Amino acid sequence: MNKGTGWSSRIRTEYIWINPRKCEGCWKCISTCKKQVIGKVDFLWHKHIIIRNPDTCTGCQKCINTCPHEVFNLI
Ligand code: SF4
Ligand code: SF4
Repeated sequence: MNKGTGWSSRIRTEYIWINPRKCEGCWKCISTCKKQVIGKVDFLWHKHIIIRNPDTCTGCQKCINTCPHEVFNLI
């Protein structure tokens, strides 16, 4: 269960945390995560991921292995 509130619930699940500032908006992790945990912030000059559904994360780590920019980290 995710216990984060506010901003912390947007950058972490029970298993992983993200550094959105490293994100290049390639969206590879979006299709990799089968649990729809990851969402897009998609503006013309402002593209990065955000945690949308922290409670569905299983900790499978596929996102960590997929991202070329080390946005994802194990908790
Ligand atoms: S794979 Fe990495 S760089 Fe690409 S959208 Fe996901 S977090 Fe951002
Ligand atoms: S650990 Fe697995 S379920 Fe959780 S965000 Fe990454 S890919 Fe999705």
